[in-house]
Amino acid sequence: MAKTIFVTGGVVSGIGKGITVASLGALLKYKGFSVIPIKADPYLNEDAGTMNPFQHGEVFVTDDGAETDLDLGHYERFMDIALTKLSNFTTGAVYRTLMEQERRGDYLGKTIQVVPHVTGEIKRRLGLPIEKYQPDILIAEVGGTVGDLEALPFIEAIRQYALEVGRHNAMFVHVVKMDYIYPSDEGKTKPIQQSVAMLRSYGIVPDMLIVRCKRPLTAAEREKIALFGGIADENVVEALDVNSLYEVPLNLERQHVARVVLKRLGLKSRKSNLSEWKQLVRRVTHLKKTITIGMVGKYLDHPDAYLSVSEALRHAGAALDAKVQIVSIDAEGRRLPKQIQLVDGILVPGGFGIRGIEGKITAIRYAREHNIPFLGICLGLQCAVIEVARDLAGLTDANSSEFDPKTTQPVVDYLPDQRHVTELGGTLRLGTYQARLKAGSQAAELFGQSKIWERHRHRYEVNPAYHKQLEGTGLVLSGLSPDGDLAELIELPGHPYFLATQSHPEFLSRPTRPHPLFLGLVAAALAKQKAA
Ligand code: GLN
Repeated sequence: MAKTIFVTGGVVSGIGKGITVASLGALLKYKGFSVIPIKADPYLNEDAGTMNPFQHGEVFVTDDGAETDLDLGHYERFMDIALTKLSNFTTGAVYRTLMEQERRGDYLGKTIQVVPHVTGEIKRRLGLPIEKYQPDILIAEVGGTVGDLEALPFIEAIRQYALEVGRHNAMFVHVVKMDYIYPSDEGKTKPIQQSVAMLRSYGIVPDMLIVRCKRPLTAAEREKIALFGGIADENVVEALDVNSLYEVPLNLERQHVARVVLKRLGLKSRKSNLSEWKQLVRRVTHLKKTITIGMVGKYLDHPDAYLSVSEALRHAGAALDAKVQIVSIDAEGRRLPKQIQLVDGILVPGGFGIRGIEGKITAIRYAREHNIPFLGICLGLQCAVIEVARDLAGLTDANSSEFDPKTTQPVVDYLPDQRHVTELGGTLRLGTYQARLKAGSQAAELFGQSKIWERHRHRYEVNPAYHKQLEGTGLVLSGLSPDGDLAELIELPGHPYFLATQSHPEFLSRPTRPHPLFLGLVAAALAKQKAA
């Protein structure tokens, strides 16, 4: 029977619960256990797909096309796995299931209630990845903070779940943070005590407390937390601030977290092999070179809006011994900011809506004309195609219908056959699709293979009616869908690095396996810097 580790958060949100789960998962995986993470999000949206990355951070996409919470990105990167739609669900999805059942008449005569129906559906969904993948361990993170009104049914559901599976098959980890008062900077444990008290009032006694802190806990602080938390000293784990996220698993390992967890779950601990991970941390904390990548976008004020993109840049940098500094290039002003002259590479990431489009196109023109390495992702490809169409193919009012509905030359457009419209009325091309790479292209060389699978999340395509005209400019459609209709990758020969992809390669990059397109960009940026 699979064991389940429930992870809740206390005191405040945004203290790295997702990274903690990802790290714990990685540690257990490196001990040879199969682990599946799942995130239960108490908000009412059906999924993260319609949420603004500006407020909530990036929308992460799985192979099977689920639009999920960005924590799944942490899980995938730290544990080096590919998750599915079974690994994220929301209150909205839970209620939709119940309402559909209700309309179908499944409850005729009965009253549908939070307990047992909502909690029952939550428990069912928590069990799905276990049923399907039969992992040794499921780690289930409950989003939000204990005490949130909307999280209550989840807390009740995990309490019941643990009771049902029995003491050695489930445990509770609560992630909290130390408080430091002003102005003495003295450490305070009271908010932690209160958060644990609240959790207990819901019937959950945590087995382990992971305490985010900016300096090591003193013996007195630790003792106090253990005493009031009602747990053993060794189950108070310190999660110190780190320079690189990848240090977190090692810090936890130093405190034997995996061993303690396994003991609690009645599993025999195994030796782990963390050498690859240690090497990675050594590398990323001793990078010799530095490059600057200008990221042109509009969600840049929110540090998490392009989380996977920045991570992917870091992965590539780590492999090439370079710290990648990301500067944001505002695309909404009348002119490009001067900073663009100082960057070693330009990246135009994905995005939605018309704002900033012309600025992005101008930035891409700048990259093309000044031989600055450029990588376009999704919207970035669409803007690059418009740029090339306007400037090289002479289609002066080339545009996409999203960016300008009155455009006469929709070079980027909805596909006329609407082949990606889903049953629920969604119109995005979501999830993994294959692309065939043109022999001899830069893309084929970078990937080292002729067929690739990449994750997608977009509505528009390069209009097949314009493929020929675009190719006439020298632009190479170096990746095509298997039927040849859709441009998946483009490149400009003769330019040091001018590549764009319709997909989201950032979702596939891993700390120890950087994605070829990011590697290519960072390598070209390093070469440019060296030549300067
Ligand atoms: N808005 C564009 C589209 O829907 C690009 C989407 C994206 O960059 N992910 O096609």
